[in-house]
Amino acid sequence: MKSWPEVYIPSIDSKFDTPNLQLFNSHSQTIEKLPSKKTFRMYVCGITPYDSTHLGHAATYLSFDLINRYLRAMKSEVLFVENITDIDDPLLVRAARDGINWHDLADSQIELFRSDMTSLRVLPPKFYIGAVEAIGLVTTKIEELKSAGAIYSVEKDLYFRVHSDPDFGSRSHLSVDDSLKIFAERGGDPDRVGKENPLDSLVWLSKRENEPGWPSIHGEGRPGWHIECCAIALGYLQPDAQDDFLIDIQGGGNDLIFPHHEMSAAQARVSTGKDFARMYVHTGMIGLNGEKMSKSLGNLVFVSSLMKSGVHPMVIRCALLMQNYAKDRMWSDDLLAQAQKFIADITLQLSKSECAPTHDVIQNILNALSNNLDTETVFAILQHWIKDCQNGDIGGKPGELSRALDALLGLAI
Ligand code: ZN
Repeated sequence: MKSWPEVYIPSIDSKFDTPNLQLFNSHSQTIEKLPSKKTFRMYVCGITPYDSTHLGHAATYLSFDLINRYLRAMKSEVLFVENITDIDDPLLVRAARDGINWHDLADSQIELFRSDMTSLRVLPPKFYIGAVEAIGLVTTKIEELKSAGAIYSVEKDLYFRVHSDPDFGSRSHLSVDDSLKIFAERGGDPDRVGKENPLDSLVWLSKRENEPGWPSIHGEGRPGWHIECCAIALGYLQPDAQDDFLIDIQGGGNDLIFPHHEMSAAQARVSTGKDFARMYVHTGMIGLNGEKMSKSLGNLVFVSSLMKSGVHPMVIRCALLMQNYAKDRMWSDDLLAQAQKFIADITLQLSKSECAPTHDVIQNILNALSNNLDTETVFAILQHWIKDCQNGDIGGKPGELSRALDALLGLAI
């Protein structure tokens, strides 16, 4: 799948210190420090292309973009892979509801997503992979799980025995009752007759009438969602055999902790014998004016609609970064107004030949980002700097700060 265009990243002067990045690992439930590494492997779960790109999507990809940018500022290489679930039940349901071909719906939404990511200046993944183009990888992964005794069939469909991973459940910290409830809410089928365990997850769905299917050694059908991400992550990130973990970061919204990330990690563990991700990093949800933002409530706000109404993409980017990535947070007109004012104020100060001192500002931004992407502190530092400029302080280098904001926050001002 075609990714979107590369984004230029100015370099950060080596006189600045880049402390190792610390992130909240939802597996250990603590903030952990990433080790120093030449190459980091990051997999971020992509969208199912039927309602791109709402602000919840944008907030997630912007958060991992900050991680990507920070690791690059540390002079590390980041192998970043993202998928797109271009065949799955929700896509078929939406296409049927709207009376359009599922393929046409997917194509149009993928193009819109690429265009929104480009406008928001999100660094593109090295590999942007669709489920359909990964069917070969998925079928091989199912074969590996079969060899490990972890696959059984229900009619012509194939299921993964979740308890073939002795660590199953350890990454999501849920009771069995909560697991079953959430599994049913998020696309699982705990009540299907013939399953050995209600939580066992579908890895191959045999072709249904009037639905698409692809030929494979498992018969004609299509992949389950969890095995799709496991197969794409391991197939394209090329794990380092010397590392204790297959990849460094598994990312996505916090609604993916269970079952999606638990299942992918369990399948990776059983098929390779190694732990999947060093860190599981999750972003909070975006609400609207005090309410949850969701498809069912019909109150999704889209990046493309905001831009059409005249909001600059850097203002959207800024508004979504002003609050901490891990929190569930609210979108509002007030937040948008704050971001608009911030962009106007900082643009004005950066356009002057004299500005308040910038060295400590840049260093403090690096320190705050290294601390679990503390963007609230980053914006407080910048607001303080704007005040210092307004008070007539001088001695700073506006070009250097401007380049740092571009490199670290993706704010091209
Ligand atoms: Zn995924």
